Parts: sequence; structure tokens; C-alpha cells
Amino acid sequence: MFENLQDKLDRAFKVLKGQGSISEINVAETIKEIRKALLDADVNYKTAKAFTDEVKEKALGQNVLTSVSPGQLLTKIMNDELALLMGGTVTELELTGNPTVILIAGLNGAGKTTFSGKLANFLKTQKGKKPLLVAGDVYRPAAIDQLQVLGEQIGVPVYANLESKDPIAIAEEGVAEAKRNGNSVVIIDTAGRLAIDEALMTEISAVRDATKPHEILFVVDAMTGQDAVNTAKIFNERLDYTGVVLTKLDGDTRGGAALSIKSVVNKPIKFIGTGEKMEALDVFHPDRMASRILG
Ligand code: GDP
Repeated sequence: MFENLQDKLDRAFKVLKGQGSISEINVAETIKEIRKALLDADVNYKTAKAFTDEVKEKALGQNVLTSVSPGQLLTKIMNDELALLMGGTVTELELTGNPTVILIAGLNGAGKTTFSGKLANFLKTQKGKKPLLVAGDVYRPAAIDQLQVLGEQIGVPVYANLESKDPIAIAEEGVAEAKRNGNSVVIIDTAGRLAIDEALMTEISAVRDATKPHEILFVVDAMTGQDAVNTAKIFNERLDYTGVVLTKLDGDTRGGAALSIKSVVNKPIKFIGTGEKMEALDVFHPDRMASRILG
């Protein structure tokens, strides 16, 4: 998918090669190709159209230096515009709480438990924090084990209560435990479902209301394309989350998800997951992502 987009853009730019300035005529065909390529990369139609209209407006009438081809100029404009659409700059986590509470939300298999571990590791090793992980996925006993294994691996304590099936109580107990032990950040992993359902939304909203998180991070699998956008929208309507985490960007990447999600929910993407290991986490850089989408 990633290569397809690149191939198409390369082909699109060939149209412009050898022409000295960008005019309505020589840009129209290219813009059409770019829009098609973005749609193929799972960027939704509204976003793709808004983006290409903006690029076109910026490109038209630009004088092309003799050393810069129209294709290069258009690439630069697209890169800047894409980065801007995805937030422009890095958005840091809000870590001023005492303790800071971070709630992790998303569907099953999105990568919540893995990300919870990665985030704890990141905050410990790069931000000098003392995190506590809370195992709030009461429906999947394997998720509790998984979090405990990860916690051990990265040297971060995990609060779990195997006797309880009440995610609200567990989250509250986790925050209380953090206060007792002087943990500066509490990361609450929550249960997901295979698809969005009312019970999941009601439950996670109740966990939010009980713990008043400083950050609510919505975790979504970047490989799921348009579904990722729909899920992001529904979770945002119910939870009003503070940031998005795109996982599995090491796979057959669809950069389209980053662009569409940002433009549909208008919440910053804060991290990207790039593998299964605890170190495979990057802070989201809009400019780097733009380059990646464009190849
Ligand atoms: P959860 O159900 O949302 O808690 O999802 P998990 O954290 O259990 O992740 C589901 C699967 O995706 C696991 O096999 C993880 O190892 C894998 N996974 C999570 N994040 C990434 C990532 O960034 N890249 C890759 N390749 N795999 C990931």
C-alpha cells in the first residue's frame, strides 16, 4: 500500500517534469493523481479533497527556480501541508498531576496492553517518572498476565486484583496504590471489545469519571484503515480523549489513517507503535509522518 502511493506520486510527478512553472493546466492532472493515491491509501474523501485543494492553491502561481522542478516544489508544499494537517508539531503528554492518571482506551487487539507497557517504559527511562501500571482488563485474564510479564520486563510495578470483576473499583484502587507508593504516573489499561458496544462505552466512561484522568489515550491499529477512523470518531464522541496512539506502523503501513483520524476528530496523535518490543515506541512527529506518507 505504501509503495503503491509512492509509485503513483512518482508517476504523477512525471507529468510535471520539464515544465518551468506551476499553472492551472499542468497541475490539474497531478492533483487528480495525488487525490486518487490518497484515497487508495485509505485517506477519507473529504480529507483528501481538502488537502489537494489546499496544495493546489499554494502551488498555483509559484515561480519555480531553475534548480527546482515543479515536482520537487509540489512535494515540498505537500510535505508541509500534510505535516500541518497532522498537527504541525509534536504534542507532549500532560504530566503535571500528582499522580498523573493516564487512561488507555480502544478495541481488542488494537495494542492497548502492549502500549501501556511501552508508555511506562518510556516515562521511566526517558522522563524520569515512577509509573504504576493498572490491570483493568477484567474480562481477559490473559491481559492481566500479559501486563504483569511486561511490568516485570521493564521493572515497573503492576497493580492487579484477580478477585475483582469491577474495572471501576480496580482503577480507583490503582490510583490509591500509586498515592501510597509515591508513583508519579498511573497508567490504567482497560478492557476492549471486538467491536464498539454500549456496555464497553458505558463502562469506560465510568472509569474515566471515577479516576479523572489527565490524559485519555485512544489506541488504534493503523492497519485497519477506514475502520480506524470510524472507531476513533465514536470513542471521541463518548470519551473526549486527549490523544491518539497509532499502533502497528511497522506493518504494511497506511499513513492514511494518521491523516484521516487527525482531520476527523481533531485530536493530536501523540505516539506511534512500531513493533511488539517495549522499545518500539516513537513520539509522533507530523513532519516525519508526512515524509513517510509521501515516500
Ligand atoms: P489489546 O487487546 O488492545 O490490549 O492489544 P495487545 O496489546 O494485546 O496487542 C495485540 C497484538 O498486537 C499483540 O500480538 C501485540 O504484540 C501486537 N502489537 C501491539 N502493538 C504493536 C505494534 O506497534 N507493532 C506490531 N507489529 N505489533 C503490535
